Formats: sequence, C-alpha cells, structure tokens
Amino acid sequence: MADTVELGWEEWVALPDLGLPAVKAKVDTGAKTSALHAELIEPFGKPGAPQVRFLIRPDPDRPNLEVVCKAPVVDRRDVTSSNGQTELRYVIATSMLIGNVQRTIEVTLTNRETMSYRMLLGRGAIGDNAVVLPGRSFIQPKLDYSLYDTLKTKAPAERPLRLALLTREPDNYSSKRLMEAARDRGHVIDPINTSRCYMKIEARAPEIHYDGKTLPFYDAVIPRIGASMTNYGMAVLRQFEAMGAWCLNPPAAIGASRDKLLAHQLLSQAGIAMPVTAFAHSPKDTKDLVRLAGDGPVVLKLLESTQGRGVVLAETKKAAESLVDAFRGLDANFLVQQFVKEAAGADVRCLVIGGKVVAAMKRQAPDGEFRSNLHRGGKAQAIKLTPAEKKIAVTAAKRLGLNIAGVDLLQSKAGPVVLEVNSSPGLEGIETATGKDVAGKVVRLLEARVRTLSQKR
Ligand code: ADP
Repeated sequence: MADTVELGWEEWVALPDLGLPAVKAKVDTGAKTSALHAELIEPFGKPGAPQVRFLIRPDPDRPNLEVVCKAPVVDRRDVTSSNGQTELRYVIATSMLIGNVQRTIEVTLTNRETMSYRMLLGRGAIGDNAVVLPGRSFIQPKLDYSLYDTLKTKAPAERPLRLALLTREPDNYSSKRLMEAARDRGHVIDPINTSRCYMKIEARAPEIHYDGKTLPFYDAVIPRIGASMTNYGMAVLRQFEAMGAWCLNPPAAIGASRDKLLAHQLLSQAGIAMPVTAFAHSPKDTKDLVRLAGDGPVVLKLLESTQGRGVVLAETKKAAESLVDAFRGLDANFLVQQFVKEAAGADVRCLVIGGKVVAAMKRQAPDGEFRSNLHRGGKAQAIKLTPAEKKIAVTAAKRLGLNIAGVDLLQSKAGPVVLEVNSSPGLEGIETATGKDVAGKVVRLLEARVRTLSQKR
C-alpha cells in the first residue's frame, strides 16, 4: 500500500500536463469537486473528442503573467460553489504533483479571479492516501511563482473573430451590411440558416449540424431570427451558447422582447413609461376591457402582428367594443391601448447598441394614416433625441437584456413612452435615414466584448 501523504490546509501543487509548474491550492475536504481558475475558456477539438483551451493567471499578485493551457474535456457538470451559485462547468482530467506524489485528477474550470487561491482541492483530488491536517499549512515542499520566469512562452498568433450570422435571409440589406462590416474589419463570418440547423444535445460535447456537417466553434453569434422562427431560433442560439459562443443578444432576452405581454410587464416593473395598455384573450366583459385603456380613442393590436398589420384605431368606444368582439372570435391574444393622439402619426426608432443610442430616426405616417411603419409608406428622417428619450431607450434595452435593440417611442404630452422593443432591428431604414454605420458599430461591440485567447490585453 502506498504511504500516507500528509497535507496542510494550503499546499503548492504542479500541474505538468497543463504546463503549470506552481499553483497555490486551498485544500478543502468539505468540497467534493476540485476547481481551477480559468478565463477565456474556448472549446475546440473533433466531434466526440472535445477539448478546451483557457487562460490562467497563476499568480494573483502578477496579473500580467498569463499561461494558455489545453486539456481534454471529460464532462460538463453543474457545480454549486460555496456562495450558492450553480454554474455549468467543463471538467478536465490532468496530472497533479504534490511533493513527489503524482496522480491524475478531475478538475472543473471556473473563474476564481477574485479568490486568493487559484485552485481548490476537493475530496476527489485529495484521494484516499492523504490525510489533511487542517491546523497546518504547507507540509509538502513549497514551490514558487518564480518557476514561471524560466518558462518559454510563445505569444499566440493573433487571429480574427469567427462569427456566425444566424439568419434565413443572408441576402437582405441587414445581413449583407453585417457581413460586409465584419469582413472589412478582418473577421470571418458565416451566414447560417437557422431552420437548416439540427442539434445534438449533450452536456460534454454539444454539436450543431448543418447540411450533413458539424459546425465549427464560433466566438460569437449575431442572431437575426425571424418572428416565425422564434422558438426554434432560440433553441439553436442556446446551443451555440452551450458550445461557448457569445450571443450578441442572449436567447432569453430575445424571448422576452418577442413576448409582448412579458416585455410589457418587465418594462413597466422597471418604471418605464408606456401607453396605458390592457391585455386580453377572450374577455367576457368587453366594456370593462375597453374602459381600462382610458376614455379616449384606443388602438387594438393583435399580438402576433408585425409591420403594423394587426393594428387598428378605434375612435369611439362603440367601435372599440365591436373590434374586441371580433377579436374574441379569433382565439388570439390582443391588447387595447390608449391612443397617443399627439404623436400625430409619428414614432421614433432608437437604435441601442451596447447601452448607447447610436442612431435615431423619426418615422412619419402618410396623411390619413396613424401607423408610421416604413412598410406602410412612412417616411424616415434622422432626429436628435432629448436626454429623456435617450435614457428611456437605453433603460428599456437594458431591462430586457438586449445588447442590440430597436426601441420605438411615441412622443406623448407627458414625455416619451415606449411602444415596443425589437431584438432584430432592421438596418436599412436607420442607416439610410441617418447615414450612420450601424453595422460597423455592431462589429466593434463584438470586438470589445469577445476576447479570444490570441488577443493581447
Ligand atoms: P407593429 O409591431 O405591428 O409595427 P406597432 O405597435 O409598432 O405595431 O404599431 C404600428 C404603428 O402604429 C406605430 O409605429 C405607431 O406609429 C402607431 N401606433 C401604435 N400604437 C400607438 C398608440 N398607442 N398611439 C399612437 N400611435 C400608435
């Protein structure tokens, strides 16, 4: 039988497979799983043989000492840390040396930047041949971070971002502009038709297949999911996320913005002004429903509507009531909303990217029409927003968790009110009206938010 090894509550270890000669670890028999600090975790490898690359800064006092490691993935697991948060982590197998005892351990990867120990040794890694003496530290030989000084590290070659544009319409204006802007800045971008993706849902090695091939790993995904594909599109996006890609708009945020009722509830909870709105499915008391939206004229909207199609104005209570009665028969969700007359057939589209309004236009409906949609003949021109308009647009995008959003406002007597938040705003109208390079700003946001292992800080 092997000799028993004594360990203190803190020990130095080496992880030779990862190229780490010295890591200070906290020994914790209270934890089952071990954890190693890792940043910029990038999955790679062949289908069926997944691997990860990651960056570790082993010395908490020398943040510019960075080592890039790679290891095979043996599992992905939900781990609940001591602060109670659960996280889906990669699990790798690697050799560990403490003193002169070497063994293969499983360790999970997580960001421990704020912790004093880059590694946590749990029961699995401590093994049966070790006894932990919690009152003592460094029983095994001490190592030192100076061991890193003699390591030969090669600066990784800079590489462009690998981007996926998730769309069924690669030839429309927005898709073309986004691809052009990405390529102009030296990145690789592939249009991917959402409806042609199929997925292997598995924790260790999730895959997306496309026309018989497995898709490669992408650094980031730009979702442009049409309203008819929302559910499947979100599933595909979640799969890209599980594979390690950063999503310009996260799937849950797209879901929230597409569900008008949910979006309305979230925005009003955040104190964002909106026209008074009553939602319904098949109400019995038509009069009461109409009354909720106030005394004046109201707008009725079918929730599945886009481009102003299912949006009608009822000038009188009687007209509103007959419309509600008609809608009731459709088995559809709809809303009754106070008509903001003073908006005078105009609305304001604010394009928010990364928490800033980067472009704004006013859309004016043709005479005799209150719906200002460009598809209905509305005319657009650039507009300078008031501070209140900017603030409400940015707050609305943030509340829904959208990094890019088209926020539609009406200019009411009481100030700006939010009409709708769109998670896949079209670029043609706004770029044409304002002359702004919105697509370029999207790509710059990706560059700022997605750091790959090959980039320098
Ligand atoms: P869609 O999503 O189908 O475009 P909207 O809710 O954006 O539907 O409505 C279409 C247009 O109708 C808006 O752009 C705006 O000009 C006008 N509109 C909608 N709701 C109101 C309202 N409550 N008061 C005044 N005008 C409105």
